[in-house]
Amino acid sequence: MSESALDRRRRLLGPAYRLLYAEPLRPVRGEGVWLIEADGRRVLDAYNNVPSVGHCHPRVVEALARQAAALNTHTRYLHDAVLDYAERLLATCPPPISQAMFTCTGSEANDLALRIARCVTGGTGVVVTANAYHGVTAALAEMSPSLGAGVALGPHVRTVPAPRDPETFARDVAGAFDALAAAGVRPAALLFDTLFTSDGVFPDPPGLVAGACASARRAGALVIADEVQAGLGRTGTHMWGFARHGIVPDLVTAGKPLGAGHPVAAVMARPEHLAEFGARSRYFNTFGGSPVSAAVGLAVLDVIRDEGLIARAAASGALLRARLLALAARHGCLGAVRGAGLYLGVEVAAGPAAAARLVEGLRRRGVLVGLCGAAADVIKIRPPLVFGAGHAVLLADRMDEALSGDRLQ
Ligand code: PMP
Repeated sequence: MSESALDRRRRLLGPAYRLLYAEPLRPVRGEGVWLIEADGRRVLDAYNNVPSVGHCHPRVVEALARQAAALNTHTRYLHDAVLDYAERLLATCPPPISQAMFTCTGSEANDLALRIARCVTGGTGVVVTANAYHGVTAALAEMSPSLGAGVALGPHVRTVPAPRDPETFARDVAGAFDALAAAGVRPAALLFDTLFTSDGVFPDPPGLVAGACASARRAGALVIADEVQAGLGRTGTHMWGFARHGIVPDLVTAGKPLGAGHPVAAVMARPEHLAEFGARSRYFNTFGGSPVSAAVGLAVLDVIRDEGLIARAAASGALLRARLLALAARHGCLGAVRGAGLYLGVEVAAGPAAAARLVEGLRRRGVLVGLCGAAADVIKIRPPLVFGAGHAVLLADRMDEALSGDRLQ
């Protein structure tokens, strides 16, 4: 008998990779908000924020192909595309953030931001939220508690609960830096996801993080806004999640959606911080900031502007949120609905097992969503930004069917 794709994957890739869904997805094509399986089944993608402007957007594909056919080198040669991209990206940031460095992944961006923060402050201590995820490198795994108890946090890392209100969060962050100081660890950074997505999506109220940033700065730490999830218009009101909170971080990291599926990521910083870092260290990321990456990044920014995707995220997100609130009012197993724009979290009051069954029920009905939160009891909804009103209605209808038709508890 021939080996199944599942067995082959296990044999060749080993056990650390996890597949989503009891019935694994095997798409062969992507188009806008749709993933298409080999048998032609179309699945509504409300999970993937990486293809920010939609799967296989023709303008992104065209920009990539055109630049790949002309030249693909690196940041050790002069090339206008990377400068054009830096300029366009930085135009979305408030002063004094006015320089960009390019990487391939969000992890590399956070890793670089951490190195810069440590260089500038001379400290090593970092404060993160209790179920944060910031990346795959050894340094970031040590400050990503969502990886679980099997991955130890670093001795220079302290956690604070995800924010419920600005005052408590500010006090918690101050207390965490005090605890680091008491242990003889000098501060380097407060590092947070501006929507607290892996913690379970905690976006409100806008301004939530301002006091905590002040606490960090009083302690001598830099503020790193991790925009890998919230960035590039997803909140529906601002290009960046930090702007929604009315703060200006010291360092901004972004990845996933920048390249709509291609490895484009960046650190945006204040020139005086990069001057200190650059004086002590050189930085070269072989693939980061290549002409092809820059062409892709520029095309993504063009599509967001030309298709009005930030406003679309606001409109579709508001409609979806209203539908989800209506469902929560009728189905007792749902709890709070939180979110900003097209990043929504729906608490499943009935618990993690029911949440997992709801995700599977939606998958069987042709809709992809995920889970987040420390207890994995929050439904995570973050579709490509081209998600429209009809898609929002379809998602809510399918969720209603799953809640009514399946035994969740
Ligand atoms: N930060 C956050 C908030 C993330 O969600 C992720 C990825 N899930 C990362 C950093 C790491 O990005 P990457 O997977 O591109 O390395």
